[in-house]
Amino acid sequence: LNSVFTEVDNNHRYEQSKHDRTVSTSSNPMSGVDGGGPVTNERVAYKLKGYFDLAKEEIAKGVRSEEWGLHEDALLHYRNAQRIMNEASSTPCTSYISSSEKEKVRLYREKILKWQSQVSGRLQTLSKRTGVGMSENKRAVPSPSSASVSTASNRRISSQRTSLPRGGTGMARSPRNATTNPKPVKESASGYDDKLVEMINTTIVDRSPSVKWDDVAGLDGAKQALMEMVILPAKRRDLFTGLRRPARGLLLFGPPGNGKTMLAKAVASESQATFFNVSASSLTSKWVGEAEKLVKTLFQVAISRQPSVIFMDEIDSIMSTRSISENEASRRLKSEFLIQFDGVTSNPDDLVIVIGATNKPQELDDAVLRRLVKRIYVPLPDTNVRKLLFKTKLKCQPHSLSSGDIDKIVRETEGYSGSDLQALCEEAAMMPIRELGANILTIQANKVRPLKYDDFRKSMAVIRPSLSKSKWEELERWNSEFGSN
Ligand code: ATP
Ligand code: MG
Repeated sequence: LNSVFTEVDNNHRYEQSKHDRTVSTSSNPMSGVDGGGPVTNERVAYKLKGYFDLAKEEIAKGVRSEEWGLHEDALLHYRNAQRIMNEASSTPCTSYISSSEKEKVRLYREKILKWQSQVSGRLQTLSKRTGVGMSENKRAVPSPSSASVSTASNRRISSQRTSLPRGGTGMARSPRNATTNPKPVKESASGYDDKLVEMINTTIVDRSPSVKWDDVAGLDGAKQALMEMVILPAKRRDLFTGLRRPARGLLLFGPPGNGKTMLAKAVASESQATFFNVSASSLTSKWVGEAEKLVKTLFQVAISRQPSVIFMDEIDSIMSTRSISENEASRRLKSEFLIQFDGVTSNPDDLVIVIGATNKPQELDDAVLRRLVKRIYVPLPDTNVRKLLFKTKLKCQPHSLSSGDIDKIVRETEGYSGSDLQALCEEAAMMPIRELGANILTIQANKVRPLKYDDFRKSMAVIRPSLSKSKWEELERWNSEFGSN
């Protein structure tokens, strides 16, 4: 369906206000098309074009809702499109019109027919998926501006209300929210913010973090900072007030592949905070169009569901230094982020913490950097951490390595990152398998020979450290100038 409607997608920009204007004036979506007057033959093509445009708009919304995973909304839009197209098909056309007009009518009818079959296909699939009977598809659906949409948004709002916070008490909780957030999420009238809230709740809130605290080897300084900033304050808010009020912004920086993302995921699974995992792609998604609106809503949702952690991985890609050549959208996005961030830090009652991760801290915007007051260096693993990493990785793998062998490997892997070490172990583990040749299909699993030192030595020739010394030194310099540890 997506490819069929590429044309729709290309031509169509999500214009809620236009949509509202068109459909909210009356329960009859066609009222804006022919002005309510009788249809003369000359106006058939004009009227069909009106139907065609309205259906196109509804289909585009349906496609986007599907992309968002909002199946119920998609159903609603497709049903509206179907109803509009049914009306189009039943528009009579007599032979008293010019041949060019006739040709236009024929083309519109042809396109509408093609879309009708596509839309009913989507409706069938979605009905199965959402468990809504097809009888409902056939039922006349009221105008999207009236009953259906408002019911859907009410449903969403009430589900937000019930799923609200462990610790928080909702948007109207503090006086600041009432004054500085004049348009709280729940009261949004357009339905646009409701969609953003839904998107945040479904795609940005990370509910299934799989990394445990102990899976992260070493990084004691970073763990300690995260414990004091996020985990403990979320558990004991009463203790962390006044002078003990935790810093609200933290930057994890360091060479690639050393556990920054892993650490943030561990925070998500260990802390009782609501964890918002924001990626550059979700912020700059073509879907949303106005990323700063998403940022604003994100902070509002985070406040309502606090204690919250907003994690921005690869933060440099969204918050890099402002330059003259940068586009307007990214400038607006950054400004909105700064405004919202200042909002949560200025209210002592809010516990919303922003964690950014980057391997290019030098490219971060100064204003953003200033707000991420705690900056934790996640370095390449030192001898102790490498040893720990090897021991954990080898735990579930039969091997004949003595502790002397492990020490030797640890010494020889100076400059390897955490992910390089992971790759090295995976490569070494393949060595005994490669020796098997044709026997691989018949050999019993417990008869495969254990790993030995030589496997690692050979693997080191293949898996080299991925970071050059100059890059590493640049990060060390940045750490000594701006880092907290
Ligand atoms: P990037 O800057 O490229 O995003 P990163 O610092 O976020 O890198 P991660 O994605 O957290 O790196 O780590 C990559 C992989 O390296 C992990 O999936 C894990 O297998 C391994 N790894 C890195 N550091 C550690 C560590 N301290 N403990 C255990 N595994 C680690
Ligand atoms: Mg990462």
